[in-house]
This record gives sequence, C-alpha cells and structure tokens, in this order.
Amino acid sequence: MFADIAKIYIKAGDGGDGAVAFHREKYVASGGPDGGDGGKGGDIVFVADSSLSTLSDFRYKKKYLAQKGENGRGGRCSGKKAPDLIIRVPEGTVIKDAETGRILADISDKEPVVVAKGGKGGWGNIHFATPTRQTPRFAKPGMPGEEFEVQLELKLLADVGIVGFPNVGKSTLISVVSEAKPIIADYHFTTLTPVLGVVRMGEESSFVMADIPGLIEGAHDGLGLGHQFLRHVERCRLLVHMVDVSGSEGRDPKEDFDIINNELQKFNPELAKRPMIVAGNKCDLTDDETVEEFKNYIESKGYQFFPIMAAIAYDVKPLLNEIREQLSKLPPVTKYQAEPAPVLPEEEIGKQKVTITKRDSIYAVEGKWLLRVLRTINFDDSDSLAYFQRVLIRSGVIDALKEAGIGEGDTVSIYDIEFDFVE
Ligand code: GDP
Ligand code: MG
Repeated sequence: MFADIAKIYIKAGDGGDGAVAFHREKYVASGGPDGGDGGKGGDIVFVADSSLSTLSDFRYKKKYLAQKGENGRGGRCSGKKAPDLIIRVPEGTVIKDAETGRILADISDKEPVVVAKGGKGGWGNIHFATPTRQTPRFAKPGMPGEEFEVQLELKLLADVGIVGFPNVGKSTLISVVSEAKPIIADYHFTTLTPVLGVVRMGEESSFVMADIPGLIEGAHDGLGLGHQFLRHVERCRLLVHMVDVSGSEGRDPKEDFDIINNELQKFNPELAKRPMIVAGNKCDLTDDETVEEFKNYIESKGYQFFPIMAAIAYDVKPLLNEIREQLSKLPPVTKYQAEPAPVLPEEEIGKQKVTITKRDSIYAVEGKWLLRVLRTINFDDSDSLAYFQRVLIRSGVIDALKEAGIGEGDTVSIYDIEFDFVE
C-alpha cells in the first residue's frame, strides 16, 4: 500500500547539565568555581530526499529521539553539543503538529528544517559567582528538548493534476506525454499510487504532471481510494479534468464531470476554484455530434475543452500547449508556511503547578507548561514581556515565589531566563 501519511513522535535532545566544580591546584587553598556549561541537545531536522517517494519508512519506526548534550565539567570545560538527528522524507512532505494540526514545516526544497529544537545547555557554577557568593554549589540543568507528535503528509509537487473517473484514460495520457510508465488496463483502480511525469516541451520548458487515481463519487468521504489521493491535488497549479466522452462504460460524461467537481469542492473548496481545463478522451469511440454537444456543455460552464484520443496521442499537442500557456501565467506551486505557535490566551491560564527550588538567593521555577509559554515570548518586545508578567501572576507563580520566601532583589530563574524579583 502506498503510504503518504504517517504519525511519529519526535523529541529533540535535552541540554547537558552545567557542572559544579572548583579550581584545584597544589598549594592553592580554595580555588574559585570552574564548572563548565552543558552542551546543547541535538535538534530534530527534516530534509528532503529525492530518492524517496513514499512515507513507508515511518510505518514501523515511530519514535525519533535526538541525543542529550554533554554535561559540563570542571576546569571550565563546556560539554559538547549533541549531533542533530536528521530525518529524511520525500520532497513535498508537510509536517504538522498532530494535536493541533498546526503546520510546522513544508519540506519541499533542499533546505533542511529544524522542527524540534534541542535544549540549551545549563550554566556551570562559574556563572553564579558574585562578590557575596564566591562558592556557588549549584549549576543549572540543561533545558529540555522540544517534543511532540507530528503528522507527516505527502503532498506531491506537481504543476498539473489530471483528475477524472477511473478508466477515462488518465494514465494513458501521462504515458504518452512523459517518460512515466504507469500501468494501463481496462479495469478500475489499476493505478494505486499517484504517478508523476515530467512533460518536456522543447529545450526550455517542462512541467510536472500527476495522474491522480481513484476518484469516484463519495471520494471526499473516503470511498474508493480518492480521499487518500485528493491531498496530492492540493498543490497543483492547474487541473486537467479528463472525461470519457464516449460514455464507453455506460456512463454519462456530463454527470461524471459534475460528480468529480463536486468531490473536489467537498474535499476542499479551494480546489474547486483551481484553474481547470477539460480533456474529452476516447473520441474515437463516439461520433462528432456527441463530442460537440459535450463541448458545448463544458464551454457553457466556462471551461476550455480539448477533444483527444490519448491512446494514440491524437490532438494531444493543443492540450499541452494550453497547459504550458496557462502555467506561464500562474503562481508557482504552493509552499506551505510554518504557522507560529499560538500564544496561550491569558484568560485560559488558571492556577498552574510549579516547583520552586531555592539555592542561595536563586529561586528556580519549573513546570512543563511554562516551557510552552516561554517558547511564545519575545523578550525584546515590551508587549510580549508584559504578557509574560501577567501570566506569572495569573498562574500563581508569583504567589508561590512569595510563599517560598523570596525577597526584593533575589533572583528568579525560569529555565533559560533570569531576572531580579521586584515587589
Ligand atoms: P485511468 O484509469 O484513467 O488511468 O485509465 P487508463 O489510462 O488506465 O485507461 C483505461 C482504458 O482506456 C485502457 O484500456 C486504455 O487503453 C483505454 N484508453 C485510453 N485512451 C483511449 C482512447 O483514446 N481511446 C480508446 N478507445 N481507449 C482509450
Ligand atoms: Mg490510471
């Protein structure tokens, strides 16, 4: 079975812990702190691999964990950064947060994309020495790496998608105009995977055509195989709707045309608005009047019509010329933009669980939910900062700090940020 969707769990590496260490040398009574920082955890990086055409690698391996950064050591030695974990996917793979559906990345060019960031290394005790605190016996643990379940969806990168009922001749057309050699046969569902073909027109111009198989009535609801494949039409800049004008299977071509358009509309209303050209195939099996009548029907709906005989590549050239002409005016294949993490609405923040650990006059605050909040804060932006302060009050962090005995001028440490407490 063709795998074009998969769900996997990814976790970037945690940062290495900072070290608590003191300088030791013969005849030196007590050296200062010299514990180094932890190294950064490995990122989870996705990269396109043109030798892959499906997501079947992800059918069995479901967990991808990057390594933790090395811990810091004495003698001011920083821990090494952990290597990134590279995950190879076919070109055109869209990565979404499995829980919210938020788009995290679109792997449709050669550019590698970091989808889960490794945690920063914790500071060694060297950073915590102050004139009044000369022997800090603590360091910071590394920040946790980002982790989530992601949905991978392959959305083919084709300029043109050929849609239409089974057996109308879609595979035949792609086989006569490109190097692609799909299976062609006189029964339904011979094509079980979308087939991509490159159509070369002269020296300069070429475009990618995809044969989208398995569309039938009810496809948007999961009938047939169409539901699975409709996803691949979403990026196409232009659709070629192929119809068997001869009605050779006892079908009514007009009805077929409307049914498929209706399926596209129901799957994604955007698709119904996509520019579309109609190809009437199997003209050899019917008379000119029937073709003419169908042509009038299609043109009355505002579409351009091209009668062809795909099997013998008859009159295919004018169709290809029109495709090229239209493509030259259309925007490039859609690339999905990563969506920013949504900011947690303040109103939704009630009392949250936090742990506070006190060492010297530093109050370390921890809570998994805080990590999520921190990722959405821009510390260079005053509005964002003000939001963060309100979150700390509303969630009970400030109260918890007071309860733990914090006083004016003490340090609050929340993962990788630090600030002085002001009443
Ligand atoms: P698909 O399911 O839409 O991909 O259809 P295929 O390309 O597999 O074709 C289905 C059948 O129609 C095959 O037996 C083809 O040989 C036949 N066919 C394709 N084009 C033509 C044509 O122009 N005329 C006739 N008579 N048969 C055709
Ligand atoms: Mg086919």
